[in-house]
Amino acid sequence: MTVVSAAPARSLTEAECRDLWLEVLKRMQEKLQRSQFITWFKDTTILGFEEGTLVVGLPLPMSLNWHLEHYRSMTLEIAQELAVDVRQVVYKVDGGLKDNRQRTVNILEHFPEPKRRKLPGKQEVKLAEGLISKILSPRYTLENFIVGSGNRLAHAACQAVAAQPGGKYNPLFLYGDVGLGKTHLLQATGNGILKQMPKATVVYTTTEDFTNQVIEAIQHQKMEQFRRRYRPVDVLIIDDVQFLANKERTQEEFFHTFNALYEERKQIIISADRPPKELQLEDRLVSRFERGMIADVSSPDYETRLAILVEKAAEYQIFIDMVVLQFIAEHVTTNVRELEGILMQAVAQYELEQRMPTVKSISEIMRKLSKDPYAEPEQVGFDLPPKRAVTFQDVVESVSRYYSVSVQDMIGASRVREILMPRQIVMYLGKRYLRISYVRLGELFSNRDHTTVMNAVGKIEAKLQNDPQLLREVRALEQELALA
Ligand code: ADP
Ligand code: MG
Repeated sequence: MTVVSAAPARSLTEAECRDLWLEVLKRMQEKLQRSQFITWFKDTTILGFEEGTLVVGLPLPMSLNWHLEHYRSMTLEIAQELAVDVRQVVYKVDGGLKDNRQRTVNILEHFPEPKRRKLPGKQEVKLAEGLISKILSPRYTLENFIVGSGNRLAHAACQAVAAQPGGKYNPLFLYGDVGLGKTHLLQATGNGILKQMPKATVVYTTTEDFTNQVIEAIQHQKMEQFRRRYRPVDVLIIDDVQFLANKERTQEEFFHTFNALYEERKQIIISADRPPKELQLEDRLVSRFERGMIADVSSPDYETRLAILVEKAAEYQIFIDMVVLQFIAEHVTTNVRELEGILMQAVAQYELEQRMPTVKSISEIMRKLSKDPYAEPEQVGFDLPPKRAVTFQDVVESVSRYYSVSVQDMIGASRVREILMPRQIVMYLGKRYLRISYVRLGELFSNRDHTTVMNAVGKIEAKLQNDPQLLREVRALEQELALA
């Protein structure tokens, strides 16, 4: 569809800009995950289009880098597809765009949440007479599970099972410590199977619920009925089977159910906190668990933790500075649930107080959550942040002392020669060690343009290659600040 005839001689009106942007967004949306799309394109618009330059307006400075890196070429391509004579896309940050209905596309209205199957307001669904499954949460999918070295095999096995339940990997047994994604994978696999085979009878149950059902059946002397119940099941997913320990009768019933389904080549998926051999269960059950595929889920590495945070932040539709996410990923090391917990606190802070999470506010949250500051890191699930992280302020002050120039002058607009180099060094250190974005650095230096900061950092980097004097000075500063 052609929105604007080629090469308009006049500039576009506000309404035309908005219409054009809506068309761009329609195509963009097909290429992105919904959470990403909403996060990055909410309150955006076209601010102008003249002589081949399309000016895209963004509501928040911190989204600029992301757009430049991830969406600029896609935006250009799409705009060109729409037969508009666009040669380049540039960005402009305009705080006035936030929730400005006149100028921006109302993204939630034009791109509403796809209708989900209406879920009853309870935790369970009845699949057949007496057959009950917990509701699979649509939040858990195999696509939004971040894959890293600690969970690659488990994720691949789940994908294989979702594609072909009852196939090679039967039963599928996942094990690992708490909070590392077992339940997510189990439910995601169930969701994946249902997507492909909506008619399949997929039962997801916890060991606790299964035990309660057995107890109830015994009490009412309905054991036969209980066994019949599971006959129509195509996929049985049972979470946390370590809790079958010491429950002989439930183990026995589970053994029968398992065999009946297994013989019919129905898929069984199991999770536990340790491998089958270490479970304190009847040998015959353990040997059944070992028949198929066993995969462990272990703690994610730094990159995976960071990727999980980026994904979750996008799901919660909140902008969090990369520096902050990196800080969380560095300090919350063992447990993904903790990682999410800290992020949720940050989201709450943002929503309740309209306060952007900062490294400082996050480290406060972390201190609060680890009630006893002397607790062992394993007990709280994350390392305490160092006594005091180096802040931007520290860097500015050190550089100011070192070169005997005032902080005011460095941060301010002064163009005095003596100021320039120290200022560039602060920018360089801020970028390199504190990982502050160019845009944010620009703001910190009296709202300079991000390209100015980029140039400054580039200059220092280049000089460090062949200016030994500068190299010594910068090394000294790095040491003083304990950065390197
Ligand atoms: P477990 O069942 O092993 O105790 P969960 O599946 O409940 O752990 O995971 C805890 C939280 O962490 C869930 O919200 C889950 O979505 C999230 N999570 C864990 N691992 C990942 C991952 N690799 N990618 C995305 N989210 C994850
Ligand atoms: Mg679990």
